Amino acid sequence: STHLVWLRNDLRINDNSALAAACRDNQAEVLALFIATPGQWQQHSMAPKQAAFIHQNLCLLQQSLAERGIKLHFHQCDDFAASVDYLATFCQEYKVDALFYNYQYEINERQRDAAVEKQLDQQGVVCQGFDDSLLLPPGSVQTGSNSMFKVFTPFSKAFIRRLQQGLPECHHAPKARAGAPVAAGKKIAAFDYPVEEFDETWFPAGEEAALKQLRQFAQQRVEKYDQQRDIPAIDGTSRLSPYLAIGVLSPRQCLHRILKEHPQALNNGSALVWLNELVWREFYRHLMVAFPALCKHQPFVDWTRNVSWQQNEQHLTAWQQGKTGYPIVDAAMRQLNTLGWMHNRLRMITASFLVKDLLIDWREGERYFMQQLIDGDLAANNGGWQWAASTGTDAAPYFRIFNPTTQGERFDKQGEFIRRWLPELQDVPDSAIHQPHAWAEKNNKKLDYPAPIVEHKAARKKTLDAFERARSAA
Ligand code: FAD
Repeated sequence: STHLVWLRNDLRINDNSALAAACRDNQAEVLALFIATPGQWQQHSMAPKQAAFIHQNLCLLQQSLAERGIKLHFHQCDDFAASVDYLATFCQEYKVDALFYNYQYEINERQRDAAVEKQLDQQGVVCQGFDDSLLLPPGSVQTGSNSMFKVFTPFSKAFIRRLQQGLPECHHAPKARAGAPVAAGKKIAAFDYPVEEFDETWFPAGEEAALKQLRQFAQQRVEKYDQQRDIPAIDGTSRLSPYLAIGVLSPRQCLHRILKEHPQALNNGSALVWLNELVWREFYRHLMVAFPALCKHQPFVDWTRNVSWQQNEQHLTAWQQGKTGYPIVDAAMRQLNTLGWMHNRLRMITASFLVKDLLIDWREGERYFMQQLIDGDLAANNGGWQWAASTGTDAAPYFRIFNPTTQGERFDKQGEFIRRWLPELQDVPDSAIHQPHAWAEKNNKKLDYPAPIVEHKAARKKTLDAFERARSAA
């Protein structure tokens, strides 16, 4: 019989549920297929850096599959609808008996998969889907009254308790099949999609590189994670998000590696603080399944629909380009624009600035982040933006507004991170780095750096008024 593994957001051979299941029968011929859908990616605002990262990983995956006797086929069509038709034709042509795939949880992806199952059922192809990109499947961690948690902390407690009772196992990479290796097949063609180079020293492609980074983090850095994770000048976080976002790495691999180095990680210590971040990832994915409107960029808190957002192209552009006149915000945005990645503390600061200082609709920021991020992920990005905008589950209350100057002072005291990204502030002394204009004026210096585009105190008041008006109108 012929088994087809349809690869999507699971670009790895290790711990891949669908691939492992397809290979279980030694007699079966196993094929793999990846279908690029540039039109759909455009609709989803996929970053050109992420497209390039996918392409590189796909090329490496093609080789490692070939070594194991599995040929990876590649096809390109416009969107999900076209991919359903292509898959049906492929199954006919290659006389596929069974299709194996790992679930994706976003709304368009789920509709596509339902259409595939319906079509292939008519053709007599058996379809098997797997919960794979999560530690625990959506819907499996619920409140006492069997509903999804709307607040993170109790979710996380229940989640960790579940892990303490039993761990999700990792699947081994498939063994080489009879006849291996096979020829790798046609080279993966360039995507009909803009691609942009990314920093390969920060994010080297491939499973081996991802596993190495995970191992090093678990052995050397996770112990200091709880002290260092909020300091953007320090490389204190794992930087594994791009791999997790496209499935070059699985969260089970992360969990097991951490436990190997730190057997107490589910009970206490810095490693638990890190695992808790993986639980945030789970939380937002579980939420998206429980509340699919989140995929359509609807706010979770209904009355926040009434906030009168400002339409201000100049302000939006200044924020995007890192020219707001607030050093920590601008340095962060330049990090994003250059690397396609931004430190988590800075994601919170810049998101808060767009929404609470500029009063611009959070969806503008959500889209812009997606267009830039190499780790762009609908659930995490939407969750992060709704948290910052106070429109989501478990969001910061709307009246809690970050002060961008004091945030900078707290988390980049000496301006080390700021100077790395804003060379125009090189000569400003540490004590003035967060308010360089006041210093320049006092010392008669000219700065090649924009003046603040809004004054924080006044902006804060305006935002509070707008939220209060929206709430009382509801
Ligand atoms: P680490 O601190 O090492 O964390 C380990 C892993 O846990 C991460 O790789 C990630 O997979 C997960 N994780 C950590 N924090 C979060 C979180 N708050 N929510 C969900 N998962 C988390 N993360 C994305 O992967 N893709 C996004 O598109 C994304 N957009 C965001 C937008 C905003 C406005 C905010 C505030 C956060 C966003 N995050 C997003 C979450 C977080 O900022 C990144 O996951 C993190 O900075 C990635 O760096 P790291 O791998 O070094 O993280």
